[in-house]
Amino acid sequence: MMHDKGLVIVLSGFSGAGKGTIMKHLLEAHPTDYNLSISATTREMRAGEKDGREYFFKTKEEFDKMIENDELLEYATFNGNFYGTPKAYVEQLIEHKKDVILEIETHGALKVKEMFPDALLLFTMPPSAAELKNRLVGRGTETEEVIAQRLAISNKEADIMEKYDYLIVNDTLEKAVDQVHNIIQAEHFKVSRNSTAIKEMKEQLKIFERSN
Ligand code: ADP
Ligand code: 5GP
Repeated sequence: MMHDKGLVIVLSGFSGAGKGTIMKHLLEAHPTDYNLSISATTREMRAGEKDGREYFFKTKEEFDKMIENDELLEYATFNGNFYGTPKAYVEQLIEHKKDVILEIETHGALKVKEMFPDALLLFTMPPSAAELKNRLVGRGTETEEVIAQRLAISNKEADIMEKYDYLIVNDTLEKAVDQVHNIIQAEHFKVSRNSTAIKEMKEQLKIFERSN
């Protein structure tokens, strides 16, 4: 069945919840199903990251230029750095009815929901707050100070969780990846997302119409 459109999917979650890890595994398991939007950011590159893979790393001036040139679909600040979604890639995928995933924070997510009311909003969290801290510390990419700042942001972001459509607890990674995949696939089959198939079937059934 051909669905009406591709889905705009947003995945948010506390820093250290495992968003990046889930995305990596989801794309490895289903390389042809999903397209991940790569954001621009002014934050420093972490060890192991690559420009153009995790992010397009930009100076503040370059980022400002992107805003000025209307190249970003949305942007927000997070702990003193700018992050934004390049517009062209998302628009291109929408045009080709492909699913696109934006891994972005909560303010950006709400902006996307305003722009695309039928966007699917997923929120991921670890099984406990203590585990969140363990993961951030264990990742070893931020100083103690930045970890404390990111945990404080999580406390604020928790107030926005109820605005999302689905909650994924990232306890066992494989389960979380399957849940994200299953939710997205089920979402495609919503009656409201299949008006073309319904219309076509109704047209075809007309040949069976009887006057009595
Ligand atoms: P985020 O992108 O949400 O900030 P990451 O994907 O970088 O989070 O994950 C944070 C840390 O937690 C990483 O070291 C990652 O390997 C680890 N991690 C992710 N998912 C799990 C999980 N299900 N169980 C244990 N550790 C995990
Ligand atoms: P990190 O520095 O851990 O990679 O990302 C910090 C936060 O910024 C995360 O919540 C991440 O989802 C978010 N983020 C990444 N890219 C974007 C983006 O393009 N727009 C918005 N609004 N948030 C983003």
